[in-house]
Amino acid sequence: MTQVMDYQLFINGQWTPGDSGETMDVINASNQEVVARVPRGNQKDIDRAVASAKETFESGVWADKTYEERADILRTAAANVLKNKNKLAYLESLTSGSTIRRTMAIDVPAVADALKNVANWLYELPMLEHGMCLPWYIPQHSYYIREPIGVCAGIVPWNFPMILAAWKFAPALAMGNSIVMKPASITPVTLLELAKILYDSGVPAGAFNVVTGPGSSAGNYLVQHPDVGKIGFTGSTEVGRHIAHLAADGIKRVTLELGGKSPVIVLDDADLDMASSLCLHAFLYHSGQVCESGTRMLVPRAMQDQIVDLMIEKIKGMKIGNQLDPASDLGPIASAEQLETIMRYVDIGKKEGAQIAYGGNRMQGEQYDKGFFFEPTIFVNCNNQMTQVREEIFGPVQCVIPYDDLDEAIAIANDSPYGLGGSVCSTNATRAQWVAKKLRTGTVWINTHHMLRPDAPFGGYKESGYGRENGYYALMAYSEVKHVCQSLTNDASRYRYFRVIGLAR
Ligand code: NAP
Ligand code: MG
Repeated sequence: MTQVMDYQLFINGQWTPGDSGETMDVINASNQEVVARVPRGNQKDIDRAVASAKETFESGVWADKTYEERADILRTAAANVLKNKNKLAYLESLTSGSTIRRTMAIDVPAVADALKNVANWLYELPMLEHGMCLPWYIPQHSYYIREPIGVCAGIVPWNFPMILAAWKFAPALAMGNSIVMKPASITPVTLLELAKILYDSGVPAGAFNVVTGPGSSAGNYLVQHPDVGKIGFTGSTEVGRHIAHLAADGIKRVTLELGGKSPVIVLDDADLDMASSLCLHAFLYHSGQVCESGTRMLVPRAMQDQIVDLMIEKIKGMKIGNQLDPASDLGPIASAEQLETIMRYVDIGKKEGAQIAYGGNRMQGEQYDKGFFFEPTIFVNCNNQMTQVREEIFGPVQCVIPYDDLDEAIAIANDSPYGLGGSVCSTNATRAQWVAKKLRTGTVWINTHHMLRPDAPFGGYKESGYGRENGYYALMAYSEVKHVCQSLTNDASRYRYFRVIGLAR
């Protein structure tokens, strides 16, 4: 039995008990053991966190620091994240079902990279975003500057709890905002750990707060709070749409990163070994629980069988097991609820006539029975109208759609309410670039998938959301631009604008 870890809220630089005294259990998805407990935050907790964020913002202790001062603190935070790598990776894996190999190699470094990237930008931005306007026809001095928005809210899901949080708090803090974050109820632990690391690195009390609690109550209240000026959200399209409505009522700035059903287009010149690995990576990374997973695989009809056979052979060589075992290639599904969603879609797929070439079942056996393990699953001979092909499943399920010519493949790829990612597999760079141009998605990969960088914009076309995370675009999304204009005329009788209403002649 693992020792159960008890956490508190992180508000105003301090561990703080929740108002209600109620808690929520956090479990290990491999065996359903309770591993941690966090407060079930309520509206009073959100009020306290927002008040602290507002007070800190208005005090100027963070917002009025120079860009370089903030950059130095965020760099220190990045270094401290890396110093705590083993602990953070362990906790992320324990609570989210992510394999330890991935959290060590990708997730923890990605949090540090997000902090380092915004810090680097802070040295460049004063030159790019603070400028003089040209001389005007009357003597005046005009310039424009970037300013923080104020109090931001960050709401994140359970698939990459630390990375998706960092993509919000790094740019928010870089630009001088304060932020209140609400993690997903099933994966709240690592964001609380990051709060302490940021505070210990020099981010002042109140600039970064974490309130754990249910999205439907605490989260819903946070996004409507009148003192919150900006919402950064990653999660389902359904909740994103709801948040967009609430944001509209309050005229709040909002960045939404929502669902996807990304296509992977294999061209007829593709290398089979590369294509089969790419198509597996596209839908098996984090067992498919990724918003930009490539789960509609378009292959030339004549190549379908060969590629799928190779994929099956490679799946058989993968080790599926406890996420904390460094030998595991794939871990469990994150929750019982998500496992049910996946099983429901697989049933729908069968009913709608797609054939299963591999998998399709919950995994059985001693090491799987207590956890939420699901077999990598490949549907073949799909068409783009089938429910399991159109809707986001968020699990290890690939849908293979055979095509006859490339224009048809591109049309099918774009025939989706989503537009988050897409990839092309080809040995011909010119053809691949042509397909990249045609895809209506926020990211296109060529001969890779899931490759997100801290310096490249990430976000969706269509119902996959709006706004962009990462790099320069994220910094713009967490700031306002202000024009300051000073007339250099002290003599009212000579002031041209006064003449317009007869104040000067
Ligand atoms: P979700 O409901 O959209 O949850 C995402 C976050 O929003 C969580 O922190 C959640 O809190 C919070 N939330 C829920 N309702 C809210 C509300 N009314 N106001 C403010 N915040 C609210 O996603 P989910 O239920 O975990 O997953 C459902 C499906 O969404 C998945 O099957 C998948 O298709 C998709 N999904 C997409 C992404 C992505 O990266 N784009 C990530 C996760 C899930 P609680 O945890 O307390 O509910
Ligand atoms: Mg939900």
